Amino acid sequence: MYTDKPLFTPGPLTTSLTVKRAMLHDLGSRDTEFIRVVREIRQELLKLAEADGRGYETILMQGSGTFGIESVIGSITPPDGKWLFVVNGAYGQRMLQIARTLQIAASDVSFPESWPAVAEAVAMALDHDPAVTHIGAVHCETTTGLLNPIREIGRVAALHRKVLFVDAMSSFGAVPIPVADWGIDFLVSSSNKCIEGVPGFSYVLARRNLLEQIMRSTQSAGYARSLSLNLLAQWRGLEADGQFRFTPPTHTILAFRQALTELGVEGGVAGRAARYRHNYEILITGMRELGFIEYLRPEDQGYIITSFRYPDHPNFGFIRFYELLNNKGFVIYPGKVSDAACFRIGTIGRIFEEDVRALLAAIRETLAEMEVTL
Ligand SMILES: *Cc1c(COP(=O)(O)O)cnc(C)c1O
Repeated sequence: MYTDKPLFTPGPLTTSLTVKRAMLHDLGSRDTEFIRVVREIRQELLKLAEADGRGYETILMQGSGTFGIESVIGSITPPDGKWLFVVNGAYGQRMLQIARTLQIAASDVSFPESWPAVAEAVAMALDHDPAVTHIGAVHCETTTGLLNPIREIGRVAALHRKVLFVDAMSSFGAVPIPVADWGIDFLVSSSNKCIEGVPGFSYVLARRNLLEQIMRSTQSAGYARSLSLNLLAQWRGLEADGQFRFTPPTHTILAFRQALTELGVEGGVAGRAARYRHNYEILITGMRELGFIEYLRPEDQGYIITSFRYPDHPNFGFIRFYELLNNKGFVIYPGKVSDAACFRIGTIGRIFEEDVRALLAAIRETLAEMEVTL
């Protein structure tokens, strides 16, 4: 009955049948059961971030991950605030673009896409620009799959007394991120990445004293530049009666609660990390055997998603490669780096060693069909 192709992508991802089944209920958004589920999810997310009892709040926000990022940037920046974004890929660039769109002052400290960010360079950029009040950085830069040194950037942010906001969209739930220990003030991830839920909302982990400070300095009005993406108003609503201000994605939230249960069964963040890392190791070993070369140096590569260079062979064309694999029942992902021709293979979602091995066999067959010898 369940024949969907496995998704080797950065999301939406393959989810379990039981997560999909959890959606077979029509719950009212004011139903007491629904309100209880929302409360449980908010608490459980704090535990995953090792932030339980450490002064953090979870705010759920309708929409995909980008909506959550936009709600943070648009809602926590005072009129005289300024951002410094750490950029080494498309998602760091997107944060910058959000600030520009909202006409919020912003600059960037950029690195090549093939390099993790360097915390000392972030410190130097702060020394050069005292107007900066907020730092934005991406944890797993899904453009390439590299992991940025958030803990080190957190130390720099604390030393310079800046607010730190982290886009941990593609790592949260599968890479340990102790937000308080790493000095993260705001973090965003979404329902359809490593928690293995379905798309529909993002969630923000936020330091409560910073939320309260914004409320105090604005007589509770907040700084939001948008009505629907007003993070503080959303928080107030969830705190007051447990409800969303506007229609919540009720089915997605039921699926997410089930996904969190399954994450617990797998052994939490550590258990999920072990499976994804294993998927990655099987993939990388097999791809190297086939003659593929990764874009990143292995020491900079995370186990979430990997960029591979196009093979240097006249018969290779990505579109044909993609379609032949798709016809065999495997979905991979195009590349996103700007300075090299690459494609990407994700090793996250409800996929296991046997799925990765089947993908490798299909890639071998596809190369033979294309008469690409490496
Ligand atoms: C997936 C992702 C996003 C959000 O993308 P949406 O399409 O809005 O869900 C943001 N940042 C990173 C690093 C991501 O991997």
